[in-house]
Amino acid sequence: MEIIAGVKEMRRRSEQLRMERKTIAFVPTMGYLHEGHLSLMQEGRKMGDVLAISIFVNPTQFGPGEDYERYPRDMKRDLQLAREVGVDIVFTPSTQEMYPPEFQTSVEVEKVTKNLCGISRPHHFRGVTTVVAKLFNIVKPHLALFGQKDYQQLATIKRMMEDLNMDIEIIGLPTVRETDGLAMSSRNTYLKSKERKAAQSLYRSLCRGEELFHQGEKSAAAILQEIRGIIEAEQLTQIDYAKICNPQTLEDIEEIEDEGVIALAVKIGKTRLIDNLILKEE
Ligand code: AMP
Repeated sequence: MEIIAGVKEMRRRSEQLRMERKTIAFVPTMGYLHEGHLSLMQEGRKMGDVLAISIFVNPTQFGPGEDYERYPRDMKRDLQLAREVGVDIVFTPSTQEMYPPEFQTSVEVEKVTKNLCGISRPHHFRGVTTVVAKLFNIVKPHLALFGQKDYQQLATIKRMMEDLNMDIEIIGLPTVRETDGLAMSSRNTYLKSKERKAAQSLYRSLCRGEELFHQGEKSAAAILQEIRGIIEAEQLTQIDYAKICNPQTLEDIEEIEDEGVIALAVKIGKTRLIDNLILKEE
């Protein structure tokens, strides 16, 4: 497995692979790898001749007072896990090289970023799209894999690809969960044992929402009332948002016609967790 820290070196390596007609699959991550990340890598391994990942905790997608400094990091363990799933190249750029002092450009996707996390984290998606565009320019992949766990992020990246005519296939893959349903996340390590238990309410509430939908309930308000009830029954939870949106535009919907996405962000203690579930007529 190659570990490449320099931007120039990474570009050169990608160019070489492209000249050899190799298909490059790419999984961008912020590290502290878990089964969710590994599932993207396993799929990338199958889809590309070469599997590249990046490990970079991107400062521009964290707001003031958020967890950039304390975000969990363990490069040694990550490299071991990457080796085990058969990653060929790990790109680990430095913050200084990604964002030199004169840096001043960003990519902003307008509408799909406004609702949900865009409300409480107003500059988050600008940070995400900017770093992903940079990583794409450096790694030059043919395809890139993202998790549906970060549904709004995936929708935003797909929009950026279309709008900027980027020639990379974006693959979205299902959320990997713990046995009790909690969506895997690097941030789950923040949870103390009582908080960890309260966190089960997110997925439990999503499943109840889905059940109501399949029983014929089409009113978003009615489904959300039940979802909120389940989450609020836990003492340690504080709902940031619980919404049902159009899966493409991410605008709120009142009546679910053919499909919708239930999206949640819940603070448990100091930890903010997100999750979602697609509602679709069977
Ligand atoms: P992160 O390191 O949190 O920036 O995540 C890197 C990639 O892994 C993103 O595409 C995430 O959507 C994806 N991811 C994170 N958690 C999960 C999960 N539980 N299941 C599937 N994909 C995930």
